[in-house]
Amino acid sequence: MHYDAIVVGLGAVGAATLCQLALRGARVLGIDRFAPPHDQGSSHGESRITRLALGEGEAYAPLVQRSHALWRDLETRTGRQLMTTTGGLVLGPRDSAFLGRTIGCAQRFGIAHELLDAAVLRARFPQFALRGDELGYCEPTAGFVRPEEAIAAQLDVARAAGATVQTGTPVLALASAGDGVRVRTAGASHTTDRVLVAAGAWLPGFLADQGLADGLPPLQICRQTMHWFDTGAAAADFAPGRFPVFIWAWGEGEGESLYGFPATDMAAPALKVAGEQTLQTTTPEQIDRQVQPAESQALYRERVAARFPQIAGRVLRARACMYTVAPGSRFAIDTLPGLPAVLFASACSGHGFKHSAGLGESLAEQLLGRRTTCDLGPFAVAG
Ligand SMILES: Cc1cc2nc3c(=O)[nH]c(=O)nc-3n(C[C@H](O)[C@H](O)[C@H](O)COP(=O)(O)OP(=O)(O)OC[C@H]3O[C@@H](n4cnc5c(N)ncnc54)[C@H](O)[C@@H]3O)c2cc1C
Repeated sequence: MHYDAIVVGLGAVGAATLCQLALRGARVLGIDRFAPPHDQGSSHGESRITRLALGEGEAYAPLVQRSHALWRDLETRTGRQLMTTTGGLVLGPRDSAFLGRTIGCAQRFGIAHELLDAAVLRARFPQFALRGDELGYCEPTAGFVRPEEAIAAQLDVARAAGATVQTGTPVLALASAGDGVRVRTAGASHTTDRVLVAAGAWLPGFLADQGLADGLPPLQICRQTMHWFDTGAAAADFAPGRFPVFIWAWGEGEGESLYGFPATDMAAPALKVAGEQTLQTTTPEQIDRQVQPAESQALYRERVAARFPQIAGRVLRARACMYTVAPGSRFAIDTLPGLPAVLFASACSGHGFKHSAGLGESLAEQLLGRRTTCDLGPFAVAG
């Protein structure tokens, strides 16, 4: 069978694109090396922050706005709970560049928000032990998305709309076939008009192995860790409704920030927190997916203990995950110079999940040669 489009990789970006292609009546095949949702790539760990005002850049704002509408539509279609609105705080020194861009984005797009000084923050959110010179950007529409549920929902909808989904099947090679593309796996060869490669952290290796990486910017794979600390007797203070999602930067350097989530499971309530690191790189083949207790203890000692005095430091669980980081922490979405019928999407740099539903919609439209709902031009490699 010849397909209108084949999607390689069914994580956040690929599942969203496959779903939107299928909803548009296209003949589509989605292929993944594992069985998504899984915990080997970039889309696991129970929760991802979503917020409408973006310090990462105004070009992303339409994508997340569209994603919020699509998550709600998917919730209606599937009965799954995908997005929880908790309110969100971006905390930092008054001269923080990220905070400044976040506020600028909110003003530009008319996103409801409040700016809170430390006195108001302390009264409203006593869980945070502030220094006193912080400014807080508070967005009521922010919250979190459940990544595994979102991927599963989109694959369910895709299948129901006629998509073929093949799991446990690595795509081995792409080759030109007339005006289209031949996609080869160990057991089969498929032809299609267009391909999306949404292989996450595997993207650079996958293209380099075939001599197709020319159009790709340098992408670094960086191991990240997420930690769930027991809220103990303070569980009610960290429940959704009382505690927001937050990004807290007390300096501009690596190691000077923390982000986190309210307790999602009140049967075993935990404050989930994580930092970010981009100094050490790895590969999907080499990454250590085990998180050692010493890593959780170090994060607690260095970043959590003084800032959340109610948290005693008992770690309930921890997970490792991969960022694919493009220069400038951008997305990289473009066609391959060597195979123009192939589109690739690296939409991570640590902030991609919140955009994935809207991005999948516009990628589906682009693959079908239609006008895109959101402008993907700013994410082109030369853009
Ligand atoms: C710890 C952590 C915290 C994060 N926090 C946030 C947050 O709070 N908010 C936010 O918006 N974003 C966040 N992100 C970023 C977000 O999760 C990523 O941008 C997003 O998950 C990337 O999705 P993806 O589809 O590119 O990759 P993935 O979801 O990893 O999907 C890639 C898929 O490709 C498949 N694949 C690879 N090679 C092949 C092949 N050859 N053949 C077939 N299949 C293949 C893989 O099996 C995988 O399923 C975070 C990321 C991490 C790691």
